Amino acid sequence: MPKTLTPLPLGFARRMVDWQRLHGRQSLPWQNTQDPYRVWLSEIMLQQTQVTTVLAYFPRFLTKFPTVADLARAQQDDVLALWSGLGYYSRARHLHKCAQAVMDRFNGVFPPSAEALQSLPGIGRSTAAAIAAFCFQERAAILDGNVKRVLTRVLGYAEDLAALKKEKALWDLAQDLLPQQAQDMPAYTQALMDLGATVCLPRKVLCERCPVMDLCQAKQQGLPLAYPVKTRKLKRTSATLWLLWAVNAQGQVWLQKRPDKGIWAGLFSLPVFDTQADLQAAWPQGKDPQFIAPWKHVLTHRDLYLHPVHMTGTVKKPPACEGQWVDAELWPSLGLPAPIRALLTGTSGV
Ligand code: SF4
Repeated sequence: MPKTLTPLPLGFARRMVDWQRLHGRQSLPWQNTQDPYRVWLSEIMLQQTQVTTVLAYFPRFLTKFPTVADLARAQQDDVLALWSGLGYYSRARHLHKCAQAVMDRFNGVFPPSAEALQSLPGIGRSTAAAIAAFCFQERAAILDGNVKRVLTRVLGYAEDLAALKKEKALWDLAQDLLPQQAQDMPAYTQALMDLGATVCLPRKVLCERCPVMDLCQAKQQGLPLAYPVKTRKLKRTSATLWLLWAVNAQGQVWLQKRPDKGIWAGLFSLPVFDTQADLQAAWPQGKDPQFIAPWKHVLTHRDLYLHPVHMTGTVKKPPACEGQWVDAELWPSLGLPAPIRALLTGTSGV
């Protein structure tokens, strides 16, 4: 693949802005607003999560926490409960901390610059730029995964993004490509997101629908799928978790809060053990053990092999591990990891 860069494509920003106004997405619930709270919330939710999923969560979240002050005042457990099912729970914990930081450090008002926004918990450079572009028309470049794909293809940028220096050079190019007029920043930023989400896809390119097809180096080379180049892959790991599903005669289930770090941090879960022997030792009074068929739960960089064991017992002799009996009416509203929720509701397919 050629390594020399071509000059910046002339008219790129103009075409993107015009295309967005005609063909881009216009009516997502977090669009057509300059309210940083809504834009920030949507940007955090959209990291690693499909738009269709966020469409269900976004309004629920706003109903419960209409303002950043409401979110800052909330209990972390309530935030995690509402996030339940979206995955990547560190986002929810950062969201909560960020709301508190906006209240404490900025009197409840999101600061109006990408640089200041980046100083808040959970807001990285690209998210800060998106908020600043949408809400304050700041000429700040975004560069999330979708945008890296679009720009490396358009520019024929064949450098390895695993090298920080090369990634930084792409940031500089992304900044150089911005429209000159600040008022075009919201449409331009949205155009990059829309093109990456609907036209310039990871494994399929719809170049005939692309507004910059004749400017695109990857298209001219006939090699769109060769970009972006990133050699370093995170190593996949795996873990086996034995899950104690303890139920008493009242139908309550024994749940424990996970530690603040590690798998399912801060969520409520069935107690987790490394081995079957450890699990059974934790509740010798448990009766009628049923070994549920194990299954693999796939996280981004880790496979979890889950082995639930259902046992029954009495309120007075609970498992000898941290936790509490929780009523069946209560646990559905807790923040539970998706596979535990699916198991308890009988929707895991096991
Ligand atoms: S022409 Fe094709 S490869 Fe190039 S940016 Fe457009 S969709 Fe992507």
